[in-house]
Amino acid sequence: MALDPARVVSQLRELQRLTGDENGAQRVAWTDTWNTARAWLAGLLDGVPLDVERDEAGNDWWTLRGASDRAVLIGGHIDSVPNGGWLDGSLNVVAGAEVLRRIAEQGTPPLTVRLVNWADEEGARFGRSLFGSSAAAGSMADQDELRELRDHDGISLPEALAANGVDLDRALEARRQLESAAAYLELHIEQGPVLESMGIPLGAVLGTYGVERWRITWTGQAAHAGSTPMDRRRDALAGAAKLALEIRDIAARVGNGAVCTSGSVVCRPGIVTSVVETAEQLLDQRHLDAASLAELLRQAQEASGRFAAEEDIEVAWERIWNIEPILFDETLIGFCDDACREVAGVSHRLPSGPLHDAAEVARAGVPTVMMFVQSLRGLSHTKLEDTKEEHLELCVAALDRLADKAIAWVAGR
Ligand SMILES: [Zn+2]
Repeated sequence: MALDPARVVSQLRELQRLTGDENGAQRVAWTDTWNTARAWLAGLLDGVPLDVERDEAGNDWWTLRGASDRAVLIGGHIDSVPNGGWLDGSLNVVAGAEVLRRIAEQGTPPLTVRLVNWADEEGARFGRSLFGSSAAAGSMADQDELRELRDHDGISLPEALAANGVDLDRALEARRQLESAAAYLELHIEQGPVLESMGIPLGAVLGTYGVERWRITWTGQAAHAGSTPMDRRRDALAGAAKLALEIRDIAARVGNGAVCTSGSVVCRPGIVTSVVETAEQLLDQRHLDAASLAELLRQAQEASGRFAAEEDIEVAWERIWNIEPILFDETLIGFCDDACREVAGVSHRLPSGPLHDAAEVARAGVPTVMMFVQSLRGLSHTKLEDTKEEHLELCVAALDRLADKAIAWVAGR
């Protein structure tokens, strides 16, 4: 049987009926609904001659043995956020299953081809994203912190893992899965507005943004709103407010896709009759280029010092988290661009603002590329997430072509 992109769309709708409700997808990792989704996914490949395996980190692998052990991997994640969309993650694995079935029906491929369903990409229950892929990539370095994580009901991550057959102490043994990996392909909805705004269905992803995430604490002096003259105030909020606007100019100056977000400012004492004494501000900065990311941060820190002096307040920076930009493989980006153009007549190269499992695989040294399909209204992580059916069918066909190109490339090396 030839590739059947329309079947992928109807399977995704079936998955949504099975594991979603009126508020959206409910496939949160390490829950019963997630296990229902995992079993359903396995059912799609029943009868196909594959080796099936669940690794030490809870990742599911379907392996089509080829003439060589070297492997082209196709990956995604079937877990969702609570009240999530029907396509985020699941599109990749369901389309990947269709492509794997098509390749299997054509006989033994020159290379091994594997589908992976990564465990807990979203980190929705415990706040730690990319669990399974970071274990396989060997970059899971925070196991002591992981041991302390608890969900809203007080259940610890190790307890939830154990209930799903995963021993946190052994999760890193999943590393052997990438030993034979020669290329990694991941299809995903864009989750942003770029392709839709350009009227282009599919695009090749250049890499994932590096991220700098900081907590900035501004400290002034609480003072009576009535008795304190304007020129005598030490208003912590003034510093946060100036910086919240300045980061727009910083992003514009650094350019090339730079984004800066001040996602929260919490003021204390937080009453209408007092000047703000402390303002705790959260800042997130992202760029695809490491030097530009460093420049975003440098300019923001420099500006904050200036604002603190102007307002006679203090400012302190504390890093919450950061990750370097991760660039995908030039050759595979070219193949992805070609595959998009062949099925859609047009393509576009774009960076990814969100992180993905593909970033972990690329970090582990495996040549990697992602393909994006247009998201309607740029929405994701909501039940409103959607993509036109015709575009979903195009992306399945394009992933299929990309897989063939990657197999031929690896086999020829
Ligand atoms: Zn995703």
